[in-house]
Amino acid sequence: MKQLIIIGGGYAGTEVIRQLVLRGVNNIQVELISASPFFENTIAGTEVISEKLRSENLRYDLKLLSSYWGFNLTVARVKEVDLDEKTVKLENGQRSYDILVVASGSAPNFYNIKGAGLAATSYRLSDFELINSRLKQLASDHPSIVIAGAGYVGLEVAAEITDLLASLDRRARVTVVEKMQHVLPGFGNEPARRMAVEALASKGVVFSMGKGVMQISENSVMLEDGSRLESDLTIWSGGVKASDLASNIRGASLRNGYVEVDQRLLIKGRNNAFAIGDLAYVSINGNVAQKMAAEALGQAATVARNIASMVNGEAPKTVHKIDYPVDFPKVLLSVGGGKAILIFGPQYASIGNVEYFLKRRIDIDEMVSRFPSL
Ligand SMILES: Cc1cc2nc3c(=O)[nH]c(=O)nc-3n(C[C@H](O)[C@H](O)[C@H](O)COP(=O)(O)OP(=O)(O)OC[C@H]3O[C@@H](n4cnc5c(N)ncnc54)[C@H](O)[C@@H]3O)c2cc1C
Repeated sequence: MKQLIIIGGGYAGTEVIRQLVLRGVNNIQVELISASPFFENTIAGTEVISEKLRSENLRYDLKLLSSYWGFNLTVARVKEVDLDEKTVKLENGQRSYDILVVASGSAPNFYNIKGAGLAATSYRLSDFELINSRLKQLASDHPSIVIAGAGYVGLEVAAEITDLLASLDRRARVTVVEKMQHVLPGFGNEPARRMAVEALASKGVVFSMGKGVMQISENSVMLEDGSRLESDLTIWSGGVKASDLASNIRGASLRNGYVEVDQRLLIKGRNNAFAIGDLAYVSINGNVAQKMAAEALGQAATVARNIASMVNGEAPKTVHKIDYPVDFPKVLLSVGGGKAILIFGPQYASIGNVEYFLKRRIDIDEMVSRFPSL
């Protein structure tokens, strides 16, 4: 039997296995190697800050999943991959593979900002738990909270902080700092940008635009022009980069730090190793894939089809179709208070309770129903 190794038990990695199970591909030995023992439903994670959701309801035990879906699980961090030797190196041990899928995702990018270690990150479920407990520990007389980055994560964090404070009947000064002149720099949609600023400003959030963060100190944040903002709690939402493994895949070429793949999502120049999800730079017919869970799931389905062909001795021939290109944003962004903004393409945006209902349906019901119910 062929040996398939999948690195990363996030959206992309688990979806490859699910798609193989759905297709009835069982003449292959699958091993999932993941740094975390849990799948984390990160996309709903910011609501852990406001206690609308609990982390334990957004995690799925990969050990349990391995018993349902019949794969081997190793909880370990992969240190290095050698595409010529077809080996995967762990801290303790090494594996050989016939087919490889690298899906180790992304990680917060601090852009070498001084004092970055003093900021709370906003990436994993444990980050949102930590932000929640830090907020509750802050002095009650109008503390200052600075969020660095006005992408969708930074804005959702701001929304959930204001919701938590409102539920606790506490006041604080919440400032979102953004290097660009507008919010949501990754989503070119002016109506959505306006709606997001209006919705958050109405909840008391202040915006500081056009100056990036230069340095983070214990009780302040210094901006590029040397000005300082007081801060009792600084949260970093300034963007992501490829996970460390990207630069330790021997034989892969990188674009902006991400692993380059061809149209079938094979790592460029390889015929048995795929890279998908946030880790991969996917560019097909002039479209570049957005770093999103929804796109990661689609890429996993393409790869599973290709693996099914390879297991039957055929060449992988399924070409991926990018459903979430960067220049046509499709996203639901929560702005708190039971409302969300739907962004569809460069012009359309709408805000309301129905949009929030939709977001919940997708982020929770759709994502969780991929796995057997507990
Ligand atoms: C707060 C937040 C909100 C978001 N909201 C949305 C949204 O509303 N809609 C949307 O579509 N997308 C959203 N995203 C983006 C989405 O979460 C990512 O695009 C998605 O997680 C990418 O999936 P992935 O499988 O590539 O990576 P991940 O889901 O991050 O999985 C990577 C896995 O690899 C493991 N790993 C990392 N390094 C190694 C290693 N060296 N060895 C072994 N294992 C390793 C990790 O532990 C993890 O389990 C959001 C992201 C954040 C942070």
